[in-house]
Amino acid sequence: MSNPLLDSHDLPSFSQIRPEHVEPAVRRVLDDNRARLNEILAGARDDGDFAHSVLPLEELGERLQQAWSPVSHLHGVANSPELREAYNTCLPLLTRYQTELAQDERVYKLYRRAAECNGKDRAAARLLELALRDFHLSGVDLPDDRKQRFKAMMEELAQVQANFDQNVLDSMAAWTHHETNADHLGGIPAATLEQAAALAKEASEAGWLFRLDQPTYIAVVTHADNRDLRHRFYRAWSTRASERAETGTEFDNSDIIEKILALRHEAAELVGFDNFAEYSLASKMAGSVAEVMAFLEELADRSHAAAEHELQELERFAGQALAAWDIAYYSEKLREERYSVSDDELRPYFPLDRVIDGLFQLVARVYGLRIEQREGVDTWRPEVCYYELLNTDGDAVGSFYTDLFARKDKRNGAWMDECLNRRDYGGRTQIPVAHLVCNFAGPTATKPCLLNHDEVLTLFHEFGHTLHHVLTRVAYPSVAGINGVPWDAVELPSQFMENFAWEPDVVRSISGHYQTDKPLPAELLDKLRASRVFQAGMQMVRQLEFAIFDMRLHAEFDPRRGSRLDRVLEEVRKRVAVVRYPEYNRFAHAFAHIFGGGYAAGYYSYKWAEVLAADAWSAFEAAGIFDAELAQRFRQQILEVGGTVEVGHAFEAFRGRPARVEPLLQQSGILSAEETAAGAA
Ligand SMILES: [Zn+2]
Repeated sequence: MSNPLLDSHDLPSFSQIRPEHVEPAVRRVLDDNRARLNEILAGARDDGDFAHSVLPLEELGERLQQAWSPVSHLHGVANSPELREAYNTCLPLLTRYQTELAQDERVYKLYRRAAECNGKDRAAARLLELALRDFHLSGVDLPDDRKQRFKAMMEELAQVQANFDQNVLDSMAAWTHHETNADHLGGIPAATLEQAAALAKEASEAGWLFRLDQPTYIAVVTHADNRDLRHRFYRAWSTRASERAETGTEFDNSDIIEKILALRHEAAELVGFDNFAEYSLASKMAGSVAEVMAFLEELADRSHAAAEHELQELERFAGQALAAWDIAYYSEKLREERYSVSDDELRPYFPLDRVIDGLFQLVARVYGLRIEQREGVDTWRPEVCYYELLNTDGDAVGSFYTDLFARKDKRNGAWMDECLNRRDYGGRTQIPVAHLVCNFAGPTATKPCLLNHDEVLTLFHEFGHTLHHVLTRVAYPSVAGINGVPWDAVELPSQFMENFAWEPDVVRSISGHYQTDKPLPAELLDKLRASRVFQAGMQMVRQLEFAIFDMRLHAEFDPRRGSRLDRVLEEVRKRVAVVRYPEYNRFAHAFAHIFGGGYAAGYYSYKWAEVLAADAWSAFEAAGIFDAELAQRFRQQILEVGGTVEVGHAFEAFRGRPARVEPLLQQSGILSAEETAAGAA
């Protein structure tokens, strides 16, 4: 049987891929790679020659990527029960292979030797440095007994983190609110009520049955006029998976949190760090716990007054002191009154095709890149498009697929993913290819696809990631594009790109009423721009509260006394929060970002990257946002270097100095322009 996942070709044959191709292809590649790995190791020369010893390993990674990337992509955008099953069957095979490789001392030695012998190749040096760092972080260089302990802890950690997430879900599923009195439901959006009515009917009950999923919770606390109802939902939401949960202690995460923190701490100590926060930062741009804390504290100090002021303003508007369950409700009312600009008014001005045209013109103007659509490229759905980016000399530098409409078989959200990495060695050049995926409501019989401004921002954001992936000039896949870029810096190009979508000149070129072709009227644009800074101070201190809590919890953990979770949270809140939390609030027990995985001792990354993006943007504001010379520098120093340059250095090369927090504070309206000028003088 021929298998499209194994054929060699320039682009994947998406339309030919069937679920039955997946497992055989993955098994075959993994078997081949294992055999090939042994050959490479057996033939390894002692001179540590990079091309001879390390590049063949890059090749193995590429081979796997070419077979697996189309599968994981289709799993996200064109799912089916059969594909899901094939995908799930392969996940453990892949994990085992990756773990084997990460724990293979022979491979580790090969990289170490190559690092000792490497000459002037800067990209190679960085690739080796990152590889050796990751080997160290996964415990390869430990003595055998400790290596086994480390492995066992990692496996246990994965399990306990999954239990944490499961408890949150189960705790939410256990709670419902049944309502029979329509008078209590004023203000709640019709769609939420329809869903609740349908659920009641399903359960053979009268009235409305509400679940505690996130959309329902947000709809109720933001829109329900009935204060008791908001309070009820708030209480249920903020005690999820805790000993205070209204549905009982069955899904209490208290012990699990202690277990997770203890395992992380012990694992970090085993590989030579004082605590897990340091372990987490070893692979990030931020240098130390002290540096991150100083960064967060500075933002907190400088935002606190603005946040206080916004809360007072909100309480004046509401005519009463506000509890935690009133904030979203009155904020929404104040926002409506102050800016009175609705999605319904904006959408007709942003037909998708127009936005894309304007975006491509922008890229041409700023980076001198032409974007051309290519017909006849094999895809997974007829609405998918394929584009090439061409340099001024007409050479293709990279390309990308767009899949922008919501479908039943597609995962929620928006994202950029790698299809092919850039490679340029051994006589073969491959241009990078990206996937740009969104979930916009598609065209109807009478209307084209129309975006609200948030969706425009989403498109620009993902396009920023796309440029980062496809404009790379790095030759080695594992440090090309977004590969090897630390977690706390990877959102720099995407958040940077969003700024363009707020600029009057850009908005004019991406907007055009779908019936009259008129650009967005100045009055609507002004309101839209003014709304950007609404409650920026309150949002800032809320994010800082999460980030400081996360960092302190991981940095201060002591196995003898445990996490002191409640105390740390209380101290952090006293220090940064402006909203008064009720005593029963158990926010940490459902803080999946840090306890479920990913963002542990890394929640600060959101703000960190935002500061970088705003500071980069401030250079464009100063020079003129279409300044081609500056854009060229941004492209060369930031977008092209992939993981081969430390981001701090790359940023300084672009900006001429390290990043500062002022541009973000100014952009959020927390710091006025005068204060910025005074501070810089
Ligand atoms: Zn992003």
